[in-house]
Amino acid sequence: MIDLAHMKNNRPMGGEGRQNARLLKILLENSAEGVLLVDRRGVIRGVNDACTLLTGYTTRELKNHHIRRFWKHEGAGDQLTTIGDALWFRGYWIGRINLPVKRGGTVAFTLKVMAVLPDHGPVRTIVAQLGRAEGTALIANNEPMHDADTVGVRPLSSDQSDSTWDSLTGLPTMSLFQDRLRQALSQAARRQHAVGLIFLDLDNFAIINDSLGRERGDEALREVSRRLARCLRTSDSVARIGSDEFALLLIDIDDVTAAVRNVSVVARKLHEILDEPIVMGSTELRISAAMGITLSPQDGHEAPQLLKNAATALSHARRRGRNNYQFFSHEMTETAKRRFAMETSLRHAVEREELVLYYQPQVDLDTGLVVGAEALVRWNHPERGLVSPLEFIPVAEETGLILPIGEWVLRTACRQLAAWGRMGLPMIRVGVNLSALQFQRQDLVKIVGSCLQETGIDPECLDLEITESAIMEDVQKAVEVLNRISAMGVKLSIDDFGTGYSSLSQLRHFPFKTLKIDRSFIRSIEDNPGDAAIVSAIIAMAHSLHQTVIVEGLETDAQLEIMRSLHCNEMQGFLFSAPTSAEVFTEMLRCGTSLSPKEGV
Ligand code: C2E
Ligand code: MG
Ligand code: MG
Repeated sequence: MIDLAHMKNNRPMGGEGRQNARLLKILLENSAEGVLLVDRRGVIRGVNDACTLLTGYTTRELKNHHIRRFWKHEGAGDQLTTIGDALWFRGYWIGRINLPVKRGGTVAFTLKVMAVLPDHGPVRTIVAQLGRAEGTALIANNEPMHDADTVGVRPLSSDQSDSTWDSLTGLPTMSLFQDRLRQALSQAARRQHAVGLIFLDLDNFAIINDSLGRERGDEALREVSRRLARCLRTSDSVARIGSDEFALLLIDIDDVTAAVRNVSVVARKLHEILDEPIVMGSTELRISAAMGITLSPQDGHEAPQLLKNAATALSHARRRGRNNYQFFSHEMTETAKRRFAMETSLRHAVEREELVLYYQPQVDLDTGLVVGAEALVRWNHPERGLVSPLEFIPVAEETGLILPIGEWVLRTACRQLAAWGRMGLPMIRVGVNLSALQFQRQDLVKIVGSCLQETGIDPECLDLEITESAIMEDVQKAVEVLNRISAMGVKLSIDDFGTGYSSLSQLRHFPFKTLKIDRSFIRSIEDNPGDAAIVSAIIAMAHSLHQTVIVEGLETDAQLEIMRSLHCNEMQGFLFSAPTSAEVFTEMLRCGTSLSPKEGV
């Protein structure tokens, strides 16, 4: 059973808090997946019932014991190192793993491990989710002993239990890759050669798994591995370092000055070779990837530094959208300094009233009418003019300034809704973006409540947009806060769906009314049937959960027709209107501007 007192940092709980804690407890107790809370020293602090069912150990046998007590089979040390490295570099690890169980022997599990990042200081809590790998059976405490075969446990071949090789793809794992990297670096230093390191992350793989099924997903990963290996020379290496992340090591680059060009050629070749559709029966799957690249000696000499660089470059590539590669640059470190300068002036933005809200219409695809708007913040900088949120929101998030900014946005949007109401304009829904930090650090429920009370608007007109990643940063807290906000009548939407790591099945526990499909799927939907198939699957799944689907970033008539044919409910995009000032939007509402409705409606 999960120790809730621990999860709440031992703070005493009020009546409402206690009720939510109870709901959370029910949720965890009924989960088919085992959930373990582990502190940073590796001591298990809490487990749910599914954990005991899956492993055969009792709560008492698990709680307050170090994980090494259970993780002491052959190769366990390497596994823990691999997972530890992944947590350090990426904050999570997902994979299949063989773990010892109470009745003896090992069983194949799927394991997801996430580091919960605190506001300050080092990671203190790690959440591990344990699920049955296909073909394994539950082991109850009092269940008689079975042979591995009779309970369907896969007998493991010797190479599968070796944590240096990935059992799905046959590629090396991170631990072996690190050895090779260290070796390559010392050899390159002797010969004055360059080394290239590439981290490659498949775009939207969680969705591929979700829409096509796990088996097809695995097949696609194996095919990707084969293709990556084909791109490289025999002296080079490729490893699988996460569920959909790979690392490539290019050695023997004898011309250090031409290294950037050489590695760029490989990166482009990788993009090309991944772009070839993967044919699986009647389905054609197109895969794209983001890549982060770093070079030695240019960017560093030591393996840990280079691994960090590659991860930094990869996150820059991801931020730039799909199918991108980025070389690490000390610029990226320079960016941090520039951000500091921005932070200083951003601090005064709220009090100097430099922030403004723009509104982008959301249109019903059947009737063509404006049914909602998304409130999007801009910074009216005294010297630079209107600054995009893409530039300052990340800084605001890093520095905590998003808290006063987010509160200002929420209050201003509610006041605007009230003003439209007073003008007798048609009532619409207004979407307000929330950042992860607002969940963690603010009493969001209280702030939302006070905005509603102060303005007297209908709570149903307020729609809070949250990204998958914001929820995943602290699932327990998010469930609690979102349920309380939803109970007030306020609507909740999943924003930028498809860009995070979560799957719809994980999100069904949350009270979302709307799902917003990320713009990146729409950009190439006209010429990429794979994207249309994924979007269609997302829409079908959202509809089965009774969610309204809004597509973001519609720019062309052709995209509109496709989205109508896929039964998407609403659109938001430049095709109808870019975000506009409150004055222009008010005019739009007053004139009843609309999109040409669907034929026959
Ligand atoms: P988002 O929430 O996904 O907002 C949609 C973004 O897509 C907006 O960019 C909008 O201008 C843009 N967009 C809409 N239709 C199209 C189109 O057809 N083509 C193209 N190319 N772009 C389109 P914007 O306003 O620059 O906002 C960017 C992001 O900044 C937002 O993404 C959101 O994550 C964040 N943001 C904006 N305002 C706030 C805020 O008040 N609070 C927080 N926390 N984040 C905000
Ligand atoms: Mg949004
Ligand atoms: Mg969005």
